[in-house]
Amino acid sequence: MTPRPPHVALERVSKVFTRKPDFAERIAISLGWPEPPIVRAVDGVSLAVDHGEALGLVGESGCGKSTLGRIVAGVHAKSGGRFEFEGREEADWSTAEAKRARLDIQMIFQDPMSSLNPRKRIADIIGEAPVVHGLVQARDREDAVAALMREVGLDPDYARRFPHQFSGGQRQRIGIARALAVQPKFLVCDEAVAALDVSIQAQVLNLFMDLRERRGLTYLFISHDLGVIEHLTDRVAIMYLGRIVEVGPTREIFAGPAHPYTQALLEEAPRIGRGRRVYAPLKGELPSPLAPPPGCRFHTRCPYVMPVCKIEAPELKQIAAGRIAACHLNDK
Ligand code: SF4
Repeated sequence: MTPRPPHVALERVSKVFTRKPDFAERIAISLGWPEPPIVRAVDGVSLAVDHGEALGLVGESGCGKSTLGRIVAGVHAKSGGRFEFEGREEADWSTAEAKRARLDIQMIFQDPMSSLNPRKRIADIIGEAPVVHGLVQARDREDAVAALMREVGLDPDYARRFPHQFSGGQRQRIGIARALAVQPKFLVCDEAVAALDVSIQAQVLNLFMDLRERRGLTYLFISHDLGVIEHLTDRVAIMYLGRIVEVGPTREIFAGPAHPYTQALLEEAPRIGRGRRVYAPLKGELPSPLAPPPGCRFHTRCPYVMPVCKIEAPELKQIAAGRIAACHLNDK
């Protein structure tokens, strides 16, 4: 029997942000001035997420993890590389496959208020898309919205209310119900609980875990909160300046990080409130993604830097069963 392909697979995916030069800049460029700088937010990332798996994606702000999440969710187009969903490469999708893939992968955003239309009632926010996409008959819409509201822990009697009439935690539940309305199989959660109070965070995290059980969902969970990642994910991928530097089972990486960057991130971090564990402040500044350092991008901050690190970028290599890391220390 052929093995089932990963739910989502990325191969050498990149995302470059450029800015179109304005009129004056075009003249300056024609006179020999340099082009506006480009940002390589994601640079040659290969990553696979299996069906039903919860993969965590962590790294400091500006490392490209949100951009990568948006590529997976179809919010950003990639600049290069391959993207496969259920074994089918994006370039080969038929119109119907593209539509289904885009519905199957939904995104939950950090700030539910800005992702919900303030002029729409909850019944419309949740109920419109499944009717438009033919997943629910118009006559069944009200029942479908009520069932979704109940599933995410909201009272269906509030379906006629507007987003501003709810608390932050309730708004995030509305965002989750809206995503579930199109019957997705894969959720990209980008800092999905970061804006919530700690006690509400725990409730929403439990909801994510229940939904995973009940609906067999796959997750890409992007968070700067290491407690959330440790609690919720099976595997974790660490990103630094647009590249993946380490991937492995969450429990193993938290018990024994291999890459010096992961080690620095996981060093005993200050705890905020009850049990929240956020990144330890790393020594040295994160270099600008406009001009990443040559060789290993972490070499300007790494305590183990060697001459080779400044010249040659380390490849991701297997360092143990199910674990890969990109560091010249593994070459020895
Ligand atoms: Fe540090 Fe060199 Fe490893 Fe980079 S490759 S993490 S600079 S030891």
